[in-house]
Amino acid sequence: MQSWPTPDVPELPGTARPLRLYDTAADEVRPTAPGATARIYVCGITPYDATHLGHAATYLAFDLVQRLWLDAGHAVHYVQNVTDIDDPLLERAAATGTGWSELAERETELYRQDMTALRVLPPADYVGVVESVEEIAEAVAKLLADDHAYRLESDIYARTPSNGRFGYESRYSREQMLTLFAERGGDPDRPGKHDPLDALLWRGRREGEPFWETAAGAGRPGWHIECSVIARNRLGMGIDVQGGGSDLRFPHHEHSAAHAEALTGEWPFARHYVHAGMIGLDGEKMSKSRGNLVFVSKLRGAGVDPMAIRLALLDGHYRADREWTGGRLPQAELRLAGWRAATAAPAGPDGMALLEHVRDRLADDLDTSGVLAAVDRWARLTVEQPGGATDPTAPELVGRMVDALLGVKL
Ligand code: ZN
Repeated sequence: MQSWPTPDVPELPGTARPLRLYDTAADEVRPTAPGATARIYVCGITPYDATHLGHAATYLAFDLVQRLWLDAGHAVHYVQNVTDIDDPLLERAAATGTGWSELAERETELYRQDMTALRVLPPADYVGVVESVEEIAEAVAKLLADDHAYRLESDIYARTPSNGRFGYESRYSREQMLTLFAERGGDPDRPGKHDPLDALLWRGRREGEPFWETAAGAGRPGWHIECSVIARNRLGMGIDVQGGGSDLRFPHHEHSAAHAEALTGEWPFARHYVHAGMIGLDGEKMSKSRGNLVFVSKLRGAGVDPMAIRLALLDGHYRADREWTGGRLPQAELRLAGWRAATAAPAGPDGMALLEHVRDRLADDLDTSGVLAAVDRWARLTVEQPGGATDPTAPELVGRMVDALLGVKL
């Protein structure tokens, strides 16, 4: 599938720090340790609606991860999927009288435009499910042949692994898993399943639903196996980061990892499982079902500078659930104007010292609040005390740094 244009990432002087990130599986902040090419997979959208600020915040967090690896001299192989066939998409298409593939294409294109405007680095492989049905079906057929899966009527389920590892990613108890599985699209109560936590790998053909004739029979892929196969076939196993919103911690990431591990016999699927917090509005998580979404495209349409949206979303830790309050955007617009004025000044306080500090803060599990405070301080000193600002290279360097590491073009 077509990705979107790559924004310029300027090079910076000096030496980057190794990036440390909180790993959900280990429950601690640990160093990432990529090879020459860092490998990252971030779960993509189901394109039945436009990109809201919760999505944008998640993709921005993983954008910063890549920018820090690039700063440290790694190449980055980034893969993202598009769930362009799934129940929510079919339901929305039916409710609005739109063709499901037409709806998916329209919303995917809007997402590309939002990501481009926000200067988010694009995936090298942007992969739709429809275009990968064959490779997913082959994986399902292999799981079945290896007895990691079983048929139930026309459907195919994965056996929940009994090797003692299942649950290592989310660290939830079986009771918590059962509750979340029921809440988040699972079917623990379906009669005939061997274990209530078994996940659907393949949905057999249903009357009136799209289907494909494949090695796994007629039907379409389940959600978790889709990500396992798209990631594993392009990045291999032991990828550096599997990323997504915190609502993917279970069941999605647990089952995706388990499927890939059953398929290959290798462990682990990912070396870091990293989850971004949710963005709330008026005390509620921003979500389709609550109808309280703020769309990036609506803000752009109203003339809001995408760089202000970006700054507003970076104001707060990526792992924390955050509130989108009315004051956030005006505050970000003020900050953006302040930074633009300061980087246009003839001189400023020591730019290299600021860069070193910013690298320290970002390498420590993406402390963007610490970075914003430091750049604010530098900008204030530059504008308010021009006599004390002695480094004529600082304004250009700070502008370049904010562009390269935060993705904010001043
Ligand atoms: Zn996924």
